[in-house]
Amino acid sequence: MTNTNATARYRRILVKLSGEALLGSEDYGIDPQILKRIAGEIRDLTQMGVQVAVVLGGGNIFRGAGLARAGMDRVTADHMGMLATVINALAMQDALESLGTYARVMSALRINEVCEDYIRRRAVRHLEKGRVVIFGAGTGNPFFTTDTAASLRAIEINAEILLKATKVNGIYDSDPNLNPDAKRYTHLTFD
Ligand code: UDP
Repeated sequence: MTNTNATARYRRILVKLSGEALLGSEDYGIDPQILKRIAGEIRDLTQMGVQVAVVLGGGNIFRGAGLARAGMDRVTADHMGMLATVINALAMQDALESLGTYARVMSALRINEVCEDYIRRRAVRHLEKGRVVIFGAGTGNPFFTTDTAASLRAIEINAEILLKATKVNGIYDSDPNLNPDAKRYTHLTFD
């Protein structure tokens, strides 16, 4: 994003980035160039006056379901997955601050020596002060995903829109990369 004269359509947004979005050309972990590029785009948004909250996945490091398939207890595996999201969140906080943008990681699991706890009112206060809030550890509960965490946090902080950066161009009934007959939903109903 280079157009600094652009006007913002939204005042408060939540961006969900999968762990894979940080992989770049790496097989595992974080590509520093990708991290820097994404941090730069978030910085540009804050400079337009947009309040930005971020939820990061952890799939570039660990996914609970995959570890469980390999024989690990599912709850322990999900704890590892949630800690992976905190690792990504710390990396994003660092990248933003190296660009001069204040950021705070707030974790759904208490890791006070490392980052703040998630407290809704405090998160909103950070946003109002122009700090990027990066939500780590998903919902804090096993058996959930960071997509659920993104929806939950977006509603809690009254975000006007939830934006999800993903490799798939819509919502399907199965993974279109694996199933050529995957059906794409044009609209969803919540009954
Ligand atoms: N996770 C969890 N509870 C949550 C969010 C995430 O247990 O509320 C764990 C789960 O093991 C998941 C991992 O954290 O596989 C990483 O999150 P996710 O798979 O959503 O990351 P992404 O696919 O977005 O990279």
